[in-house]
Amino acid sequence: MEIEKYVNQYFPVLDCGFIALKNYMGGDKDIAGAARGSYGVGTNTSSSDRGLIRRLMRDRHTSPFEMCEIVFHVGLPIFVARQWVRHRTASLNEYSGRYSIMPMIFYSPKPERCQTQHKTNKQGSSSQVLDEVQYSKLAESRSITRGRMEETYRDALDVDLARELARIDLPLSMYTYWYWKIDLHNLLHFLKLRLAPDAQWEIRQYANIIAGFVKEWVPYTYEAFMDYIVEGVSFSRYEQEILWNMINSRHADISSLTNNELETWNKKLEHMKRMSVCNYEYPHGLNLSEAKPASHYEELMQRYAIQ
Ligand SMILES: Cc1cc2nc3c(=O)[nH]c(=O)nc-3n(C[C@H](O)[C@H](O)[C@H](O)COP(=O)(O)OP(=O)(O)OC[C@H]3O[C@@H](n4cnc5c(N)ncnc54)[C@H](O)[C@@H]3O)c2cc1C
Repeated sequence: MEIEKYVNQYFPVLDCGFIALKNYMGGDKDIAGAARGSYGVGTNTSSSDRGLIRRLMRDRHTSPFEMCEIVFHVGLPIFVARQWVRHRTASLNEYSGRYSIMPMIFYSPKPERCQTQHKTNKQGSSSQVLDEVQYSKLAESRSITRGRMEETYRDALDVDLARELARIDLPLSMYTYWYWKIDLHNLLHFLKLRLAPDAQWEIRQYANIIAGFVKEWVPYTYEAFMDYIVEGVSFSRYEQEILWNMINSRHADISSLTNNELETWNKKLEHMKRMSVCNYEYPHGLNLSEAKPASHYEELMQRYAIQ
């Protein structure tokens, strides 16, 4: 399988994060096989795996996709972990700050990512970035704050305060580490939500690489997922009414719409435009030359360990 060569390759994400494929089970053939199992032994094997998988995806016949599972090792800032962990249909095992001393590794967004608050989308960033002076001032202040937090952590450890309490003032920017196992159906749901342009940029960087893995692992499923789920569009009953009114009017003309209908329709078009311009694919596919061995990150954690 193509995916085999990616096992244990650590792909860098953000400044100090990573994602590595540790294990996987099943593939397109198993999904198609499980689906054919619905028809009974030895019957109806005439359709191609690709055609069958496309039909399953289109009709939301999801259980055959649960036959495949995948395990990742991920290094991610705690604020990203808090979004990630909301996906409850997975199993995870996290680095323990009660058991081990946390390495002092923090996420620092690059200047081009330091965008200002979006004016209308309260959960989003605008396309404008901080100017150089604002950025430098903030970076300096952040560095002082982190230095103080590290000092407090160190002081607590020095007086032998339990690790489970010593850690409580560490910031959301700190990196944490976990193993994450999920079946393919739920992974696709994760990707649908976290590849979308309204997901935070940082978690999207992880989702993009996971999408790269999925493309290599189950290429038919990936293709169908992009076509029917990610880039497919659903219409509410009201939106369908508007659409049919337009189709039935003489020139499929928006002038036939009431103000209310026009407003709804324009919102729909705006949404579709936003979703379609998003580049959902990991820009260059998975590039093995970008991957690092596990030892690279072990050394990084050693370097930033508190002695
Ligand atoms: C852009 C964006 C913004 C968000 N903003 C916020 C926010 O401001 N605050 C916030 O708290 N969260 C926020 N979330 C998290 C969001 O509400 C979901 O919790 C998260 O996306 C996981 O989705 P899920 O529950 O469908 O996935 P999973 O937990 O993986 O569940 C998958 C599916 O299993 C079913 N399921 C799982 N558990 C249950 C259950 N207990 N009962 C019934 N059905 C269940 C549901 O059908 C669910 O869709 C945001 C997510 C996104 C993508």
